[in-house]
Amino acid sequence: MTENYDLVVIGGGPAGYAAALYGSAAGLKVALVEENKIGGTCLHVGCIPAKELLETASVLRAVRQAQDFGIETIKEPAIDLSISQNRKQTVIDQLFTGLNSLLVGREVTIYSGKGFLGPERKIEIKKDNETETIQGKNVLLATGSTPRTIEGFEIDGKIVVTSDEFLSLDQIPDRVAVIGGGAIGCEFASLLNDLGSSVTLLESLDEILAGCDKDVSTSLRRSFSKKGIDIQTGVKVEGHESDGQKTTLSWSKDGDVNQLEVDLVVVSVGRQPNGNSAGLQNTQIGIDEKGYIEVDERLKTKEQGVWAAGDVINTPQLAHVGFAEGIFAVKEILGECPVPIDPETVPWCIYCDPEVAFAGLTEEKAKAAGYEVSVSKHRYSGNGRAMIIGETEGLVKVIAENKGDGKAGRILGVHMVGPWVTEQLGQAYLAVNLEATVDEVANHIQAHPTLSELFGETVMSLTGRSLHG
Ligand SMILES: Cc1cc2nc3c(=O)[nH]c(=O)nc-3n(C[C@H](O)[C@H](O)[C@H](O)COP(=O)(O)OP(=O)(O)OC[C@H]3O[C@@H](n4cnc5c(N)ncnc54)[C@H](O)[C@@H]3O)c2cc1C
Repeated sequence: MTENYDLVVIGGGPAGYAAALYGSAAGLKVALVEENKIGGTCLHVGCIPAKELLETASVLRAVRQAQDFGIETIKEPAIDLSISQNRKQTVIDQLFTGLNSLLVGREVTIYSGKGFLGPERKIEIKKDNETETIQGKNVLLATGSTPRTIEGFEIDGKIVVTSDEFLSLDQIPDRVAVIGGGAIGCEFASLLNDLGSSVTLLESLDEILAGCDKDVSTSLRRSFSKKGIDIQTGVKVEGHESDGQKTTLSWSKDGDVNQLEVDLVVVSVGRQPNGNSAGLQNTQIGIDEKGYIEVDERLKTKEQGVWAAGDVINTPQLAHVGFAEGIFAVKEILGECPVPIDPETVPWCIYCDPEVAFAGLTEEKAKAAGYEVSVSKHRYSGNGRAMIIGETEGLVKVIAENKGDGKAGRILGVHMVGPWVTEQLGQAYLAVNLEATVDEVANHIQAHPTLSELFGETVMSLTGRSLHG
């Protein structure tokens, strides 16, 4: 007999497991189909392992700085990558166990196998030559994404890797080329630089973190260059020739061809949506030319009762956006009419050194959208806590829409680069999404001495009065 569910979720990454947990909390009978490991990219080869290794880099930086605080470290700090990798795996394993227990505790039925969706929301689950069929009143496709590759750089897992292999590296390479200066490329370049590799970051666009506010990307570029990362923008990588131990990579800029000998090439050029991973044969579901499942702003596909969420749809490829979309789909199913998620105002956090965090419109985007804006920028170099921790690079930038009287009103965007900004973004995110004005935010107290004071100070400047400039 075919088992029936209120909701069948295909894909157990952040978008899928969030929908499963939220749906069961709302009283739905839920099934979750996963072909690999519950937790998806984020838990196994994404956010968690990347941030865990970046924390190793952060500890190493702190130990290197120890003498500035009068702490004798006796000898140069050295890293044992196997211990760091074990620690990373322990964190993943703990979260994995916790997540499985949560799903079981919520009575979500987990099907292990590859799910294929056909007409009338029938799902065939295939594993080891066996097929099981279940049926959903509603179905959520959350099949995620996999690393993109580029021609001429076949992944061998040894000299040419994507994030999947990179995160399990067992030794620190001497010389590395990171192809792609987006969020993941910048995190990897920063990590490798801290661990002692000589790093060249190759980006085809004119700037690293191209979608960020210009002041932020310029500031990050300056910090990276100061750390010794060689950044080459506006370049085209042509190919590479490997001798099995190392490789010579060719890249061109303005017609000049350059060669670079490295021990490792990390390809981080974005992620390919798994649009057709669940088959979707004889359904009305559309997949666009980039491989994304087509949805409307309510995350509905063209097939009745079928939604899609997470990296597999064309919205910011972030775990927390996946969580939000999974929850949104469940609320839709429950008929609660949730407010659509605005991709322009979601929070972004990038965990390189210095960190980057932002929410809302950049100055360029705000102006292009026709807003008259006021802008304020404050640097961490004047912030007491930043001086105390010895990390004074970076800035906070706030963009506000001008009111009729020309004074700053609603906060449209907040952009940060500097120490622990990923942990400071919360109040900025709320300000943007609650459509708060600069006066409303400036009325609130920032604790002293904190790094977050810089956000308060930057907003206060936009009221026309300020304390420290
Ligand atoms: C190195 C790296 C660092 C990152 N860092 C961050 C970060 O700091 N913060 C952040 O927000 N995001 C980060 N991300 C992005 C984040 O990992 C993704 O946005 C997130 O995992 C997407 O969730 P998802 O559920 O849509 O897809 P996925 O996590 O890709 O999960 C999809 C799941 O579906 C399964 N699946 C696919 N097809 C089928 C099928 N037919 N049947 C059954 N199962 C199927 C897959 O096995 C997989 O488990 C990072 C990504 C990488 C690669």
